[in-house]
Amino acid sequence: MRPLDIIAFDADDTLWHNLIHFDAAQKRFGELLSSYMPAQQATATLVAAEGRNIKTYGFGVKSFTLSMIETAIAISEGAVEAATITQLIAMGRDMLDHEIELLPHVENTLKALHGDYKLLLITKGDLHHQERKVLASGLAPYFEGVDIVSDKTSHTYSQIVARHASAPARALMVGNSLKSDVLPMIRAGGYGVYVPFAIAWDFEHEEVPEGTERFYEVADLSGLLSVVESI
Ligand SMILES: [Mg+2]
Repeated sequence: MRPLDIIAFDADDTLWHNLIHFDAAQKRFGELLSSYMPAQQATATLVAAEGRNIKTYGFGVKSFTLSMIETAIAISEGAVEAATITQLIAMGRDMLDHEIELLPHVENTLKALHGDYKLLLITKGDLHHQERKVLASGLAPYFEGVDIVSDKTSHTYSQIVARHASAPARALMVGNSLKSDVLPMIRAGGYGVYVPFAIAWDFEHEEVPEGTERFYEVADLSGLLSVVESI
């Protein structure tokens, strides 16, 4: 029997671009509000609000839009004009409608693994938006399961893997976040493959504990096949 039967993938910034859109919107927010506060400081205030609001609103563009509106009102001490709020809402809508840009080697890698392994997509964020992105990406046919979850913990991974009649010891998770994708799967007893993305998300920073077993790092998804073959 082969050692692995499930290969699971994170979506945002693992299969397709995502953070570049948040990064651009945060900078644009700073510029729009720069008459009330230096642009960089306004951006930093927004980022802090996003972090606080995750607990209440969860992840995703709609939560981000609410954080922009809340921060605009706060830093202008209530003076921000409706026209600016309208622009912030439009920025959020643009992010929701953005075309999907796949990251390098994604489709070929999925094609190569599909059929030999059960491929799953496990992502957190807004249900409606993530479903649209999966459909728009054209990658849905490669996946036997798509799970959109509110958080990614060891328990989340154990549950999903069990639902697919497997065990963490026979599962591998690939993603750009050590905190959400890689380390919780390893803690559950599975394998983790870290694919670092150029922009690290402020709220997801974590170090790899030394001597972590079943941990791999690849520069992009083209490195995944040799990892899978080596297990
Ligand atoms: Mg990600």
